[in-house]
Amino acid sequence: MSTHRPADSLQSPRFAQPATFMRLPHHRGAAGLDVAILGIPFDGGVSYRPGPRFAPRAVREHSSLIRPYHPVLRVSPFEVLKVADVGDVDVNPMNIEDTFGRVEAAVGAVLEAAAIPACVGGDHSLSLPILRAVARRHGPVGMVHFDAHQDMWEQYFGNRYFHGTPFRRAVEEGLLDPRRVVQVGIRGPVYAEGDFEFGQRHGVRVVRAEDVAERGVPWVREQMQVARGGPVYVSFDVDSLDPAFAPGTGTPEVGGLTSREALALVRGLVGLPIVGFDVVEVSPPYDPAHITALLAANVLFELVAVIAAGRGGQPR
Ligand code: MN
Ligand code: MN
Repeated sequence: MSTHRPADSLQSPRFAQPATFMRLPHHRGAAGLDVAILGIPFDGGVSYRPGPRFAPRAVREHSSLIRPYHPVLRVSPFEVLKVADVGDVDVNPMNIEDTFGRVEAAVGAVLEAAAIPACVGGDHSLSLPILRAVARRHGPVGMVHFDAHQDMWEQYFGNRYFHGTPFRRAVEEGLLDPRRVVQVGIRGPVYAEGDFEFGQRHGVRVVRAEDVAERGVPWVREQMQVARGGPVYVSFDVDSLDPAFAPGTGTPEVGGLTSREALALVRGLVGLPIVGFDVVEVSPPYDPAHITALLAANVLFELVAVIAAGRGGQPR
């Protein structure tokens, strides 16, 4: 029986008490945990609308609505796994490379404690230092990446680090096994056809948003199995969803996934050996009615439930 249960919302109203992710206990450090949820309030890597520095607090607040049983996966993830909110990384708001060092150290400490890092960004540049820590422990990983964008550009205004480059850098640094990477939800105008060349050359599989609409969720779930064959990282950019479902983000692209599709696809990850994940690019200042923070909270719950279901729904 897990001692790491969320606060019981039938005893303590869900709008009461300091907010933590999914009303879980706050822990200092990840010792003894299976999954450590880590906030990373940094948006120094954005190229357009800012705001994800405010996302961990917003997701904590709106995750108060999460209930502890998953009726589709038939799992009580907090009975199976010891999960806690381990607080935020103290980023350097003025310096991306210093922040990367702090993030890599914090995620490395979680992995050192043999817990799975569950990171709530923050902008997508943060996936690079997270992957540096993950690859140091597990070697090059496969990845299922939900996004409107490949995030494999070379640079922006001469900067090699921003939220449009993390996965190019990760391939270059040998953190990803690109033949076990699949990107889902890609769409929207780019600068030129050549923008897709890097991923193609390295054998990255792309499932465009148009393919999701035309070929359906079961087909996409099959494509995601390309990540099999070793440890898998999951990176979830909320702009993979249509702005109708996730308006609170920095670089919205029309024609994206619905919430229903996104949840169904995430559930399709059951059985993959997930060693870490992130949910990024929520921008609360652009999030009317907190729609996107609520979505991110639910994606967080889905991913924890997927990991619990992958362990047979039973505590270790
Ligand atoms: Mn992204
Ligand atoms: Mn994106």
